[in-house]
Amino acid sequence: MVKSQLENRGISDRRVLKAMLEVPRHLFVPASLVGEAYADRPLPIGEEQTISQPYIVALSLEHLDVSPESRVFEVGTGSGYQTALLAYLAKDVYTIERIEGLLELAKGRLHALGIQNVRFCLGDGSKGWEDAAPFDRIVLSACSKEVPKALIGQLAPLGRMVLPLGQGRSQWLTLVTKGATGKVYVKPTVPCVFVPLIADEGDS
Ligand code: SAM
Repeated sequence: MVKSQLENRGISDRRVLKAMLEVPRHLFVPASLVGEAYADRPLPIGEEQTISQPYIVALSLEHLDVSPESRVFEVGTGSGYQTALLAYLAKDVYTIERIEGLLELAKGRLHALGIQNVRFCLGDGSKGWEDAAPFDRIVLSACSKEVPKALIGQLAPLGRMVLPLGQGRSQWLTLVTKGATGKVYVKPTVPCVFVPLIADEGDS
């Protein structure tokens, strides 16, 4: 997976490649799909949700540029696979998921792997996690029509946020950066397909 799907497609961040070699993706898919865990595509994880394609996870992490000192906020825990990668790359990870069954499964998987630098929350991540903000890095695994305002507010100066932006079949993996003075820059990178971000008020 790492050689053929990631390096051959241009992923070059050594820390991201190492994390993806170390974290066992097959522990994050349903038992019936273990044989396909390293396939070049997203897989269903129940509740009509998916674990994202390995390449898209790697690209998001490369854009995010996480350091060992980073405090990271992740919206859409899902299976917990990307959460485990973030835990490997960052100092502290705050992850939020709106579906309780998925959150509990993810918690159990990370606990079984001995990962201790992750805090979990059940709820709507489009509002952020005010008590833990500001964050150096924010990553969303569900697609929003616009960059959620609360998340811009909770991104630290010089911070980076990666999210799928758009709707339906018209989505772009997007890098949002915040300058030292608070100015925000939005840069679409590659087309992508993610499940929608569901805010408490409906699709975000
Ligand atoms: N990164 C995940 C992984 O590695 O398995 C994939 C997550 S899946 C593509 C997107 C997740 O976002 C789903 O589990 C969905 O329930 C969650 N989600 C959607 N809207 C959300 C919201 N407003 N707040 C928190 N989680 C949300």
